[in-house]
Amino acid sequence: MYHYVRDLPRTRFPRIKGLLTDDFRLQVARLSEQYEMATLESALAFLAGQYQPPRDLCLLTFDDGLKDHYTDVLPLLSEQRIQGLFFVITSCLEGRVVSVHKNHFLMAALEFNEYRQAFLQRLAELSPETNIEVDVKQVQHTYRWDTPEVGAFKYLLNFRVPQVLRDRILDDLFVEYLDNEKAFARELYMSWDEVRQLQESGMLIGGHSHSHAALATMDADRQRADLETCTGMLRERLRPQSFWPFSYPYGKGNAFNSATVETIHDLGFTCGFTTEVGDNRVGQNFYNILRIDTKDIATGS
Ligand SMILES: [Zn+2]
Repeated sequence: MYHYVRDLPRTRFPRIKGLLTDDFRLQVARLSEQYEMATLESALAFLAGQYQPPRDLCLLTFDDGLKDHYTDVLPLLSEQRIQGLFFVITSCLEGRVVSVHKNHFLMAALEFNEYRQAFLQRLAELSPETNIEVDVKQVQHTYRWDTPEVGAFKYLLNFRVPQVLRDRILDDLFVEYLDNEKAFARELYMSWDEVRQLQESGMLIGGHSHSHAALATMDADRQRADLETCTGMLRERLRPQSFWPFSYPYGKGNAFNSATVETIHDLGFTCGFTTEVGDNRVGQNFYNILRIDTKDIATGS
């Protein structure tokens, strides 16, 4: 599972937490030596017990529809004839920057304490009664790669503060410290045309919801509305595919529920990828596929 893959020192935001493009190249070389590089089709056939590969399979997935995936990932994968799965957020293709990314770039642009201070101050102004305590265990499980303070703050933001309120605060801070949202979205995410070029190069596109909210925080009707918008846009704007995979935003077991699984199944998504860590054996539920983060394995550099 990959997110940002970029030549970080040469970008406007070198403090973004991502994988360097050179390390990505090394990692893919190493994985290709060790594993059979899967397509979604071969991976699902394996899970269904219909395909016994000579070596273990490795399937590469990329979340969030980032521009990096077009500029830095696609050239390498098409050169190596490896299929990647790319999960796009449909509202981002329409010019939104989702909260989770506003947060990443505010963190990269500001000193953490300054940012937290500004956020909490605005929160206290708008909603003094909001409880800002978070459960330490949940924080550790959800944000394994962050320091406890940063993890606690992200958890507060993504799971505790009511979405409407959080988005309003992030919108304010984003405009104040960063940029016009539409212009930023064009720089951060792929365009529909670039996503179609991925398809033409043998890549597979999947859904990652419309709004990138933790779906489990919405009731079943709101989940369905979000997911219908997502699948509708994918099918209208992109080429037909025999499989449409889905990746749950945030992806831990607490970020989606049985209503989510039922809905994506209903809407024709073939399978659901989580961010729960592990490998997948024959018989694994198609809607509960585990993944291993790029940061969990050595890059060789
Ligand atoms: Zn995501």
